[in-house]
Amino acid sequence: MARVNPNYSKLKAGYLFPEIGRRVRAYQVAHPEQKVIRMGIGDVVLPIPEAVRIAMHQAVDEVGTLSGFRGYGPDLGYDFLREAIAKEYVSRGAQVHADEIFVSDGSKCDTGNIQELFAFDATIALTDPVYPVYVDTNVMAGRTGELGDNGQYAGLEYLPMNAANGFVPPLPKTSPEVIYLCSPNNPTGTVMTRAELTEWVNYAQKNKSIILFDSAYEAYIQDPSLPRSIYEIPGARKVAIEFRSFSKTAGFTGIRCAYTVIPLELEGVGPDGAPVSMHALWNRRHGTKFNGVSYPVQRGAEAVFSPEGKEQVRAMVGYYLENARLMRNGLIEMGFEVFGGTNAPYIWLKTPQGVDSWAFFDKLLQSVQVVGTPGAGFGPSGEGYFRLSAFALRETVHEALSRMSTQFKKK
Ligand SMILES: *Cc1c(COP(=O)(O)O)cnc(C)c1O
Repeated sequence: MARVNPNYSKLKAGYLFPEIGRRVRAYQVAHPEQKVIRMGIGDVVLPIPEAVRIAMHQAVDEVGTLSGFRGYGPDLGYDFLREAIAKEYVSRGAQVHADEIFVSDGSKCDTGNIQELFAFDATIALTDPVYPVYVDTNVMAGRTGELGDNGQYAGLEYLPMNAANGFVPPLPKTSPEVIYLCSPNNPTGTVMTRAELTEWVNYAQKNKSIILFDSAYEAYIQDPSLPRSIYEIPGARKVAIEFRSFSKTAGFTGIRCAYTVIPLELEGVGPDGAPVSMHALWNRRHGTKFNGVSYPVQRGAEAVFSPEGKEQVRAMVGYYLENARLMRNGLIEMGFEVFGGTNAPYIWLKTPQGVDSWAFFDKLLQSVQVVGTPGAGFGPSGEGYFRLSAFALRETVHEALSRMSTQFKKK
């Protein structure tokens, strides 16, 4: 029989969202009359912006003609989209060139696949709690030992984020080669300031680390003093790869389009000790394992940067942020300690004293039929916290808050 990759057996059984699904289904079978409100998984609910829809329609018609037909597109994405993205970066004071942008079908794949570029025994640091993709893809690749009783995989450096440190990850102690950061953060909803991010860039320069910066939620930053890209920080082009996605920005979770920026001057080191261009490696990888995002989707993504597209995206982001504001206020009113939700679509709340995050999940599900995400599912430091997503219709937010207020009262 074919031997399988042994690293897969190290993965924690019952990945977070399947386990949530299992508990919700079990509850629904026992209580078919109850209407469950889902504020757990980070999927958007509003339809794609009109400008995107129009552009995609036009592109579909175009490829239906002999002269407009397109087959395989360029490996790294069409120039029209890469140039629109670069222009947007430059307009915000970040120096990014079109030829440093790789268009892809999602940041989940990109943040999951990027680890292929690093040595099999490269040292990794990541925040805790964290987007599980970063951890699990390194486990699959064999870069860790087993999962310990403390909820941590041996061989990874976990950077704890909690209320005590304001959810600002402490600098690593082990001088890791690779560091994953995500801001605005999923799951905590907190955002790194310019000073904090500058400290990380300086650290990476000093330690010759590479930062993998996930800014899937940059569109939610309203405070102009907060950085939306790591390339707004001087020196970042030499130490950082940035991942962005149209998923949460423009409602593309089902349409699929994202991009990764690898500056031309970013270098790792090869087996012979000579510097290696990370851009060249990812170019090689992308060209070998990926065949591009469909033309209509790239035209749709381009429309996100048109004046109409920008306006429509602003309105959509504003809608979710208003949800987040209502949720924050409502939860504070109920006596919860809440974090995030001002420049991010996630609310991270402290569970009541003595109630762990899965117990709180079960309590919410059973008492008011509201589904959120237990913090422990994002890493051991997530224990004692709970994530609620603002990706919902307004009436759903009102209903969830009204149900919760029957159970939770400010002391
Ligand atoms: C949603 C999300 C993404 C985007 O994933 P896509 O594959 O582009 O839909 C990336 N990173 C984080 C942290 C996310 O929450």
